[in-house]
Amino acid sequence: MDIADESPTAIASYAPEEGGRGMSMLNAMYYFFKPFLPQSARYTMRRLRANYKLQTAKDWPIMESAGEKPPGWPGWPDGKKFALVLTHDVEGQVGLERCQQLAELEMKHGFRSSFNLIPEGEYTVTREFRDFMTESGFEIGVHDLRHDGSLYRNRKSFDECAVAINSHLRDWDAVGFRAGFMFHNLEWLKSLEIDYDASTFDTDPFEPQPDGAGTIFPFVVRGRTPDEGYVELPYTLPQDATLYLILREQTNHIWKAKTDWLAERGGMVLVNVHPDYLAFDGRKPEISEFDASLYEDLLCHVKEKYAGQYWNPLPREMSQYIAGMSPFAPGPRTTLQ
Ligand SMILES: [Zn+2]
Repeated sequence: MDIADESPTAIASYAPEEGGRGMSMLNAMYYFFKPFLPQSARYTMRRLRANYKLQTAKDWPIMESAGEKPPGWPGWPDGKKFALVLTHDVEGQVGLERCQQLAELEMKHGFRSSFNLIPEGEYTVTREFRDFMTESGFEIGVHDLRHDGSLYRNRKSFDECAVAINSHLRDWDAVGFRAGFMFHNLEWLKSLEIDYDASTFDTDPFEPQPDGAGTIFPFVVRGRTPDEGYVELPYTLPQDATLYLILREQTNHIWKAKTDWLAERGGMVLVNVHPDYLAFDGRKPEISEFDASLYEDLLCHVKEKYAGQYWNPLPREMSQYIAGMSPFAPGPRTTLQ
């Protein structure tokens, strides 16, 4: 899937019965004409929209209030200063083919991460692939169902999708979920048999559903029964596509500055890097790619500046740690749905 298509396609089909947002006339026109526009024009449109948002955005990339520790916060295991959670959403076949190189890059520096895969998307997720990842110390999660923007269309279809998603979760022995386009409804997600969801963020005005969790700490979403509850893991570094493909940043200074702020606040650094967009080995990036060295340099920044001071769990380990605090685990601090 091309990032140039990402949010507009999704918003066009995002019309939930509850909590939906209206489309502006400009957006509606964009959707109408989009199929006739070449990729470069679609990027230009997204960049214009993003630059407009950038000028009016407050609280991005840092929302100061999100750094407040939850009441009774006990800190991270072994007295670590902050946590670092690395995640990847695999959008298409190209991304799938780059996963191993990305995993090897992380292993080289001593890190582990999770790979979220689309169960009914354009590529096939084989048992061999999943086994390779888990046996190498990585985690497999479920990314949406078909990633066509239809997941949250209405409650009935969401629950039908949830049955299929739960089946894939069991089949893959996975416990984590992230929706396509970061759409989120924390109430509806209780239909999923998950330990954690990772579809929210502390602050991100560039997302099609831009209401943030307003915290840099994981929190528990409680259900009517213990089985219904799960841990929410908001991402806290700006998305790679936003920084490099849309805003066309040439360095990773925003990632590093926010990481330093998150470390100072003792929060969770959670980043989502798409293998689909990575240009490895110094190859000149295409329009929908960025240089993988920007990500590698971020890992080296953490490794060198904060040696011994951070905890790098898999997301499933993070959710176990937070769930284990119950009944004292932090709950949602916002009215986020
Ligand atoms: Zn995705």
